[in-house]
Amino acid sequence: MTETGASALAFLDAELSELRARGIFRYPRVLDSPQQAVAVVDGRKVINLSSNNYLGLANHPYLKETAEKAVRDWGVGSGAVRPIIGTLRMHEELERRIAAFKKTEAALVFQSGFTANAGTVAAILGKEDVIVSDELNHASIIDGCRLSRAEIRIFPHRDVEALRRLLEEARPKARRILVVTDGVFSMDGDIAPLPEIVRVAREFGAITMVDDAHASGVLGKNGRGSVDHFGLHGQLDIQVGTLSKAIGVLGGYVAGSRSLIDYLIARARPFLFSTSHPPAVTAACLAAFDLLEREPERIQRLWDNTRYFKDGLKRIGFDTGASETPITPVIVGDEGKAMRLSDELFDLGVFAQGIVYPTVPRGKARVRTIVTAEHTRDDLDRALEAFEQAGRRIGVVS
Ligand SMILES: *Cc1c(COP(=O)(O)O)cnc(C)c1O
Repeated sequence: MTETGASALAFLDAELSELRARGIFRYPRVLDSPQQAVAVVDGRKVINLSSNNYLGLANHPYLKETAEKAVRDWGVGSGAVRPIIGTLRMHEELERRIAAFKKTEAALVFQSGFTANAGTVAAILGKEDVIVSDELNHASIIDGCRLSRAEIRIFPHRDVEALRRLLEEARPKARRILVVTDGVFSMDGDIAPLPEIVRVAREFGAITMVDDAHASGVLGKNGRGSVDHFGLHGQLDIQVGTLSKAIGVLGGYVAGSRSLIDYLIARARPFLFSTSHPPAVTAACLAAFDLLEREPERIQRLWDNTRYFKDGLKRIGFDTGASETPITPVIVGDEGKAMRLSDELFDLGVFAQGIVYPTVPRGKARVRTIVTAEHTRDDLDRALEAFEQAGRRIGVVS
């Protein structure tokens, strides 16, 4: 409290009341069960269409056993940042594993996909440089761009011609240029036109970076990601991925040349200044990569479910945008309506999160769905029925 008695933070309450009045402030719903296809959320059993647990690995017995063993053998904490004494033998092993998976010379693990993106962009670019970024890139890329103090130029979503024009403008003045894109866009489920982006970036000598948070474990052979999907091995400079989504655990990584990784070891601030993963996390990630190689049928099931559910939503008449992946948005437009649709679905036993500004642009509010390999046909049929009923009631479909 200030001396006048008014709180210096009173403006927070003013903003919060506005959000509440518009029906878009929510406390997160709370899981009362493991993260899985049918979960208990706020005490209620629901079909879960909101997790990134694409392959059902978050609660997989093999990962759990591996994590338990790691706790017994290695303890619960790593006790230091990586460069001091926080690099465990298994951290190195996981990095070799990821590099082999991504077919790159080397890889480096970060605490999260967020810190991998932000730490890498900020380490590599500086104020004499220009970053050219897709307008729908993830917040962690945007934060990395800001931290780097480079000039940021945004191109309209997936528009390679606009990208070319920005590169033409940037080339004469920039020391270095970075072209950065998500591989799969997290709120729309569409795929970046990587071959065209790489071709244009090369013409201008730009560095290329793809964030495959939603593509790793999903696209390409054994889930190797968008670079494998397009047959572009060796043609992108920086590949980022997450261990928190399809891999089912927690963490992020950068894969690329030995020099890139060595440079990040020397300069990436989250690597230098934040404690490394505990043993259970790293061991479980290693187990997940075993399963990706051993059980590719999981990815097949994911795609079968994706096609089935997407077709169902389209048949009901929903606008599902340009999605080509297991992320399927049901675009509503109005923010209040999107949140109401999500609430109605919950009452009908389906959890699909409503998503509004600033996570998506204003006027593009939606309910986002993600199917996983673990959903049964019956789960998906029941979810489609709920969507049809709730969509009609709110007037999103007729
Ligand atoms: C989720 C996500 C991240 C962040 O990954 P975390 O491991 O959850 O920090 C980064 N980029 C994209 C595109 C994402 O969807």
